[in-house]
Amino acid sequence: MKAGAENSLSIRVRGQVQGVGFRPFIWQLAREFGLRGQVLNDPEGVLIEAAGAGIDAFVAAIPLRAPLLARVDAVEVAPFDGELPEGFEIAASRGAGAETRVTPDAATCPACQEEIFSPGRREGYAFTNCTHCGPRFTILNGLPYDRAKTTMAAFPMCDDCRAEYQDPADRRFHAQPVACPVCGPRLWLWAEGREVAGDAVAETAGRLLAGEIVAVKGLGGFHLACDATDSEAILRLRQRKRRPAKPFALMATLAMIRSHALPSPEEEAYLADPAAPILLLPSRGTLPEGLAPGMTTLGFMLPYTPLHHLLMRAVGRPLVMTSGNLSGEPQVVGNDEALEKLAGFADAFLCHDRDIARRLDDSVERLTAQGPMVLRRARGRVPGTLPLPPGFEGAGQVVAYGGQMKAAICLLKNGQALLSHHLGELDEALTYEEFLKADADYAALFDHRPERVAVDLHPDFRATRHGRARAEVQGLRLVEVQHHHAHLAACLGENLWPLEGGKVAGIILDGLGLGPDGTVWGGEVLLGDYRGYERRFWLNPAPLVGGDRAQAEPWRNALVRLDQAGLADWADRLFPDQPRDPVRQAAAKGINAPLSSSAGRLFDAVAACLGLCPARQSYEGEAAMRLEALAARAPSTEGSYEFESSGTEIDPRPMFTALHADSLQGIAPERIAARFQIGLALAFANQARRLVESGEARAVALSGGCFQNPGLLAATVAALGDVPVLIQRKVPANDGGLALGQALIAAADTG
Ligand code: ZN
Ligand code: ZN
Ligand code: FE
Repeated sequence: MKAGAENSLSIRVRGQVQGVGFRPFIWQLAREFGLRGQVLNDPEGVLIEAAGAGIDAFVAAIPLRAPLLARVDAVEVAPFDGELPEGFEIAASRGAGAETRVTPDAATCPACQEEIFSPGRREGYAFTNCTHCGPRFTILNGLPYDRAKTTMAAFPMCDDCRAEYQDPADRRFHAQPVACPVCGPRLWLWAEGREVAGDAVAETAGRLLAGEIVAVKGLGGFHLACDATDSEAILRLRQRKRRPAKPFALMATLAMIRSHALPSPEEEAYLADPAAPILLLPSRGTLPEGLAPGMTTLGFMLPYTPLHHLLMRAVGRPLVMTSGNLSGEPQVVGNDEALEKLAGFADAFLCHDRDIARRLDDSVERLTAQGPMVLRRARGRVPGTLPLPPGFEGAGQVVAYGGQMKAAICLLKNGQALLSHHLGELDEALTYEEFLKADADYAALFDHRPERVAVDLHPDFRATRHGRARAEVQGLRLVEVQHHHAHLAACLGENLWPLEGGKVAGIILDGLGLGPDGTVWGGEVLLGDYRGYERRFWLNPAPLVGGDRAQAEPWRNALVRLDQAGLADWADRLFPDQPRDPVRQAAAKGINAPLSSSAGRLFDAVAACLGLCPARQSYEGEAAMRLEALAARAPSTEGSYEFESSGTEIDPRPMFTALHADSLQGIAPERIAARFQIGLALAFANQARRLVESGEARAVALSGGCFQNPGLLAATVAALGDVPVLIQRKVPANDGGLALGQALIAAADTG
């Protein structure tokens, strides 16, 4: 029947609208508003062709009532005069390349939570899910996203599950991983070389409460779990993992979190996000110090699979849930692999027979006064895409390979940036193998054929070598990007700063990145945009004596900075047992002592002066994180130490002089830490602000790993006053976001 005179429209919905229950939602909404017509998927998203008196109200309701996992970017309406069916139908997909979007894994929805704790066929079932929740990316073997291309292909649906799957009125309509105890995956507990008889969840809970460490197969890999209230179990886990101090992530219900931390209402809402990230929350100090030595925060996540919900209920207390891996290696995903590799860590193994297709760590995030902050971007966030800023509409396909640490790959295609999950530290051979796999995997999934390859300037990064080799073999254009220019561009990009938006002053406070002058940068004010930059101001450089050892041993950074400041005597008293003379000689002769303006190493130096792990850090960033935690305890009205700004250099010598004086006077270390942090923020903010006030820059952008310190971020934003500031909220400010900036710089490159 022809649509005719009645109000008849073609409605295009763009955004994350496939694989999230959008068509059944539209089907139900259309029936509610008495429309006839059809809804279907096509390469641009969802297309609705419909007619009826209620159509305007229907259009208005689409973004307001969209399903939990959907993200509606646009609803575009045009007149329609084609044929329409009598009723309202879900029609077949149209056009090649439809249903190419994959959504991130999502935490168990409230309806499924209720179902597993209520009488019925899924009571107590650990693999319950529906269209609004459950595994997605972690079970995906290929596109399009349907059951046959997931690790659920091994489990043919029973009649009851199939009926739900085929019913548009059911919340499991087209839920690819739908399952029940009759047809779906099975859980078992393995210990002492055999499958343990009885209920696997109850048996696991009993062992955890008895102080055992249990490897638990989750969504993106195995966790090692233990009772988070049991100091001895925590210590045992630390000893077995050879992880003396790095904070452990915790899983707990909201009620438990409230009794051990101080979440704000915003943080509580954020915990309940379908991504279910680990969120750093202020600790109440009621749990053992061994969970996060020296920290004022604890990283909590809510249970995010039915298995976790069942386990939490059975245990009734918070659990440590740390990645099941050998130090530095990728997280274990396979059952056999777990039994082999985690044998030395775990007393028992809670396994299941749904394979993990993609290894994904938990995402780590926090909320600050300046908004959300992503520390590690992984499960629940990938493969989400970011739109490109105005001016990049015509950008070709680009692949960018990031840095050596906190590796991540970025693909540009069709006006979108896809930033891969956190891939870890490429120093480790197995992690590098994972990186290569992820490269091939993302390229295949997103049918990516790059024209350009972007890499860091550092020739020895494994990611750089890989990108160079690929560019050469495939004849692609190679763009080498300075590390901190990439940080700046990543910040611009996520803030949708237009390609022609003009220059900004980038305050980049970071670890280490090679500069084109051959020195190591990391504390800079850059003036630039996607197309280029000038280095306008930088931290007065100091030698990194011993190269990598200068990174691991904070006292080395303190020694050279104190010597520069004329405080060699104090250094002698602070570090009596360290090999000071060889270090001083190497610094003087410049032997294995590259000059660096790194702000990260300045944090290490100050931390060592305050006695925070001076001899050796037990994990990367430990000294700076302990300093951050110390500063967070200071009164909010703390003063600051002045840096000297003359010419292009920002000189910390007066800061050390004042710090030394305070230390002699017995000023509390938390106040000293805060005064340093605020002084550093002021020194850089003042220079950047001048570039805006003189008209050279249009805004200030903040990036680099140091800005994951909320105290430093807040102090810098405060010091910038009413100058427009761009900060990173969705993409990590550390090297995890580097690839996005590299990709945008390569796309903008006209050379
Ligand atoms: Zn659900
Ligand atoms: Zn079933
Ligand atoms: Fe960096």
